[in-house]
Amino acid sequence: MSKADVLVIGGGVIGASVAYHLAARGCRNVVVLDAGAEPGTGSTSKATGGFRCQFATEVNVRLSLLSREKLLRFEAETGVDPGYRQHGYLFLAREERELAALRDALLLQRRCGLTESREEPADVVRVLNPALTPDGIIGATFCPTDGFIRPMNILRGYTEAARRLGVRFDYGVPCTDAALDPGSGRITKVRTGEGAIAAGIVVNAAGAWAGAVGAFAGVKIPVSPLRRQVAVVRETDLLPESMPMTIFVGDGFHLRVRDGRVLLLMPTDEPQYHSEKLGVEDAWVNRVHGLARGRIAPLHGCTIDRPACWSGLYEMSPDKHVLLGKAPGVDNLYLANGSSGHGVMHAPAIGGLLAELILDGAARSLDIQPLRPSRFAEGQPNSITEFL
Ligand SMILES: Cc1cc2nc3c(=O)[nH]c(=O)nc-3n(C[C@H](O)[C@H](O)[C@H](O)COP(=O)(O)OP(=O)(O)OC[C@H]3O[C@@H](n4cnc5c(N)ncnc54)[C@H](O)[C@@H]3O)c2cc1C
Repeated sequence: MSKADVLVIGGGVIGASVAYHLAARGCRNVVVLDAGAEPGTGSTSKATGGFRCQFATEVNVRLSLLSREKLLRFEAETGVDPGYRQHGYLFLAREERELAALRDALLLQRRCGLTESREEPADVVRVLNPALTPDGIIGATFCPTDGFIRPMNILRGYTEAARRLGVRFDYGVPCTDAALDPGSGRITKVRTGEGAIAAGIVVNAAGAWAGAVGAFAGVKIPVSPLRRQVAVVRETDLLPESMPMTIFVGDGFHLRVRDGRVLLLMPTDEPQYHSEKLGVEDAWVNRVHGLARGRIAPLHGCTIDRPACWSGLYEMSPDKHVLLGKAPGVDNLYLANGSSGHGVMHAPAIGGLLAELILDGAARSLDIQPLRPSRFAEGQPNSITEFL
């Protein structure tokens, strides 16, 4: 039976970041197992690549600030350009209560040290994004250092850098079960499609499938899949690549430009989306297409490239914040699950913090108490005030 000091289950952007940060701190014999045949078969490759510090809870703002520091050093550290481009995030309000929520978030961001996010009146909004049909927009917030990242570059950077430091990545190897020592309650080995691996510490980085991995160790992890769809506009060059991520706070409709193509998104919460099933629904495409044509002048006559549309899974936690820390009841199982659609942008911070927790017994770079996995059982979830 092979052995790992730390066994990471899941080699998406979070698992790769955890493995890299452990190895960079000198941790040896780290093994990453992934059920997929190659890197990125989970949600990481489906992400559109937004990065923002404009969040509405302190811990999410601070996770983003920490990630931002790491993104700025990423290429020097890993040799790969993370694609961080500061084109901004523009949150649009069409009603007073939306503007009030944005103002509250702005105050909180100030308290956390994010100084460049700001409120903008409707006339400045038209300058920040001239493509917008101005009807009904009463104000906005804008942060010029928000923008875009390349999810697969970040995954590749962490994976390659971790490999150079001796981490082993095994693909096409699903974990199927875990054995617990009844005395200590610790995981002793993890069973896989290719035999068992003895593990000192196990990290659950299984994204939208984290619940199933937790169940192997008898731990209930409140993380579940939620399908997220992306519609792709057929015509290229209708909008500039430098257009900020533009978000209508009221219904969550948002758009960006990536590689010349306009990507349209809008959250869905109906029961049929709460499963591992993938696919893009015609009714949803028609809805976002209509919104795009009405709200973005250059998209008035645009058509949708239906075969290019895609979907993927968000990994939702009940309060839309990551579960980061020791799993309740199993001393050597750590969780990095449930980022709820922010996992790529927060992966640099999450990997570093979990490495600190595992190696030093506490996270030094940030107070991660609000993210402790036991918060739900304790009846102390975070407030759900996030816009997306
Ligand atoms: C359409 C869409 C747009 C998004 N846009 C953004 C964005 O703009 N910005 C952002 O930050 N985030 C975004 N996200 C969210 C982001 O993709 C996720 O938060 C992030 O990829 C989570 O990373 P992960 O490593 O936890 O999960 P994954 O990338 O899914 O990796 C988990 C891995 O675990 C493996 N696995 C699962 N079960 C097992 C098992 N039993 N044994 C072994 N391996 C297993 C899987 O094969 C998978 O590779 C978006 C997601 C979607 C779907």
